[in-house]
Amino acid sequence: MKILVLNCGSSSLKFQLIETVGERVLAHGRVERIGEQDAGIQFAAAGGSEKRETRRVEDHSAAIASAFDFLKEEAKVTGGLEEITGVGHRIVHGGDRFTASVLITAGVLREIESVSRLAPLHNPHNLKGYYASRSLLPEARQVAVFDTAFHHTLPARAFLYGLPYEYYQREKLRRYGFHGTSHRFVSGRYAQIRGRGNDRIITCHLGNGCSICAVAEGKSIDTSMGFTPMEGLLMGTRSGDLDPGAVLYLLDRAGDGSREVGEVLNGKSGLAGVSGLSPDMRDVLDSAAKGNERAQIAIDLFCYRVIKYAGAYHAALDGATALVFAGGIGENSPEIRQRVCRGLRAIGVTIDETRNQNTRGEEARISVPDSFIDVWVIPTNEELLIAQDTAGLIEAGG
Ligand code: ADP
Repeated sequence: MKILVLNCGSSSLKFQLIETVGERVLAHGRVERIGEQDAGIQFAAAGGSEKRETRRVEDHSAAIASAFDFLKEEAKVTGGLEEITGVGHRIVHGGDRFTASVLITAGVLREIESVSRLAPLHNPHNLKGYYASRSLLPEARQVAVFDTAFHHTLPARAFLYGLPYEYYQREKLRRYGFHGTSHRFVSGRYAQIRGRGNDRIITCHLGNGCSICAVAEGKSIDTSMGFTPMEGLLMGTRSGDLDPGAVLYLLDRAGDGSREVGEVLNGKSGLAGVSGLSPDMRDVLDSAAKGNERAQIAIDLFCYRVIKYAGAYHAALDGATALVFAGGIGENSPEIRQRVCRGLRAIGVTIDETRNQNTRGEEARISVPDSFIDVWVIPTNEELLIAQDTAGLIEAGG
C-alpha cells in the first residue's frame, strides 16, 4: 500500500512516500522556511531524480502542493497521486484522549483541535498538513499518529506532578511525554532483533530534541519529557529540567516579558545556551576538541543528564536489560555514546570501544558479549511506523 507520511512543523514540511509492502521509500523531501522569501525545497525520488529550489513558498498548502507536483512528475516511480491510499500525519499532542493512532473523522478532528490548547506551538501546524492533503487527495484515508500515545501506559506515579490534584483533574496538567513514535519504534525493533518480549529497555532519543524512556515488556513506564517537550534532558536549544523557582525568578525579572522567557527556555538554552556557540552537537564537539571550555561544559552537562536519567530508569525498571541509542546524536556520535556508557559502568554497561567507534548511522550492538546490559544503536524510523499504522488502520477498514 502506498502511504504518504506528512510531518508539518511551524515553518517546515517533511514528507515520505512509502510502499509499505517491502518498506520502500519511493520519494521524500522537505520544505524549510515556509512563509519566507527564501524557502528551501529539496525533493528526491527513488530513481535518483532530485529537485532543489530556493523561492518564496507562501504557506503549508503551497508547500504540500509543490510536493504533490513532484510526486506527479515522478509518476514512473511513485505511481502518481491516484495510487496513494492513505496519508499519515504526525501529530505532536494527543492529550489523554488518544492512546493509539486513529483514522481522522470529523469527531476526531474536533478532539485534536481541542487538545491543541495543550500544544499551541505544535498541533495547529501539524493539522495544516491534514487540511491541505484533504483537499488535494480527497479519496485517501487520513490517519493521525501521536507523539504522546506510546506513553499512555505511564502509571500515575510517573505522570503526575506534585501539584494540587485539581490541576490534573481540571487543567489536565500532567506529564504526557513525547517522541513516543521513536521510542516505540526502537524498542519494538530491539525486541524484534533479540526475539524476546520481556525486555526492560532504556531508549535514548538524542537529536535536536532529546528524551529518554523506560520500556517494560513493550510498554512505556516513564519518560523524561513531561507536560511539554521542555522537561528532562539537555537539548539543542531547550534547557530540560529546571527548578520552577528559577522560572518564577526569570518571569519576575522580565515583568510582562513572559514571552521572552519562553523564547529563552525553548530557543536559547540547551547546548546553544550553555556553549554560547551552536545547538548542533557536531559544532559543539568540534569546538570542545579545540579546547573551548564552554563547549566542553555543555557536552559534560548533556551526557551527565543522560547518565542520571538512565540510572534512575534502571531502578524504575527493576533492572534494565538493554540500552538503545537513537536520534541524530545517538546514532552518529561514538564520542557521546562512549561518555554516556562510561558513566553507566556501575549499572553493568560495558561497551566494545572499537565497535562503538565503527558504528555510525546503522543498526549494531556496541556492548561486549558479557555486558550485563545489552547496548545497541538502532536508527529510528518514525516515518515507517506512521506508514505502518496508517496502512494497518486502512486495512482493518475502521
Ligand atoms: P531532529 O530531532 O530534528 O530529528 P536529528 O535526530 O536529526 O534531529 O538530530 C540532530 C542532531 O544530531 C544535531 O545536534 C546534530 O549535530 C546531531 N548529529 C548528526 N550527526 C552527528 C555526528 N556525526 N556527530 C554528532 N552529532 C551529530
